[in-house]
Amino acid sequence: MTAQIIDGKQIASDMRAELKADVAKLKERDVVPGLGVILVGDDPASKSYVTAKERTCEEIGIYSDDNRLPAETSQEDLMALVEKMNKDPKINGILVQLPLPKHLNEAELLLAIDPAKDVDGFHPENIGKMMVGEKTFLPCTPHGVIQLLARSGVTIEGADIVIVGRSNIVGKPLANMLIQKQQNGNATVTVCHTRTKDLASHTRRADILIAAAGRPNTITADMVKEGVVVIDVGVNRVDDTTKKRGYRLVGDVDFEAVAEKASLITPVPGGVGPMTITMLLYNTVESAKRKQRTDDR
Ligand code: NAP
Repeated sequence: MTAQIIDGKQIASDMRAELKADVAKLKERDVVPGLGVILVGDDPASKSYVTAKERTCEEIGIYSDDNRLPAETSQEDLMALVEKMNKDPKINGILVQLPLPKHLNEAELLLAIDPAKDVDGFHPENIGKMMVGEKTFLPCTPHGVIQLLARSGVTIEGADIVIVGRSNIVGKPLANMLIQKQQNGNATVTVCHTRTKDLASHTRRADILIAAAGRPNTITADMVKEGVVVIDVGVNRVDDTTKKRGYRLVGDVDFEAVAEKASLITPVPGGVGPMTITMLLYNTVESAKRKQRTDDR
């Protein structure tokens, strides 16, 4: 393998140490950042994600208000809980773990979150601000990708960046952030999707290739140029009888083969994953700092 690994675990751990120091400073002023978490139902992936968030909150010193609710919880009860958290001065950020059970209206709930506490960065008001380059909460996974690049010394400005995937939580916001006329922006971005003609003709041009398709082996070695920087956002389960749980996690990139040509590459797991939670907590601490500045005025 010729590529150097971008160690997401290490970068996330460095950022968490910075956040811990920020939280300690806030605590000197009697400010404790707080995250309100809402989990509805028993989805195992969501449960383990929320548990990891709670553990990391504790590690950093963030107060976590955990609400694990039964799958049959009504829309009214959830709206009332969000409203309570909107008003609660101890809560700086609200996280509604998605997906919600089918009978619940996700869009209505996300719209009900106070944009000043929308630490996932999914509220249309914050998406609009991001779009016009105003300071706001940036969505966690795309922001994590940018931090991985910046903290690995990769030059984003002027780079030809190809993103495979155009979802509202990864591809679209990431493309938007990377073209902003500001630090860690100024890239030339191409966004590919399932209707793209000749995907490889685009990916081969990339200085930085970001895969967020949700399919194993979407990117193979013949689709990249020598020296490319590869960020693999994908998380896919593939059957593996050698594992106790019967599967293993892989990204969207044929890691072993692509690493022979790339200069830098993220592994799966241990690349983008650890950054997503970290950026959520980064937004929560930012929210507490903003509130502190407003209260000081
Ligand atoms: P999504 O909503 O399913 O979107 C996938 C996107 O990829 C779509 O735009 C789709 O195109 C495109 N696509 C799929 N197959 C393609 C192909 N063969 N060629 C070109 N484009 C293709 O997924 P998502 O929510 O963005 O997530 C993407 C992956 O990232 C998933 O594996 C997810 O688990 C992972 N993820 C990881 C983290 C993390 O923290 N590590 C966070 C979020 C997501 P169309 O629009 O044309 O359908």
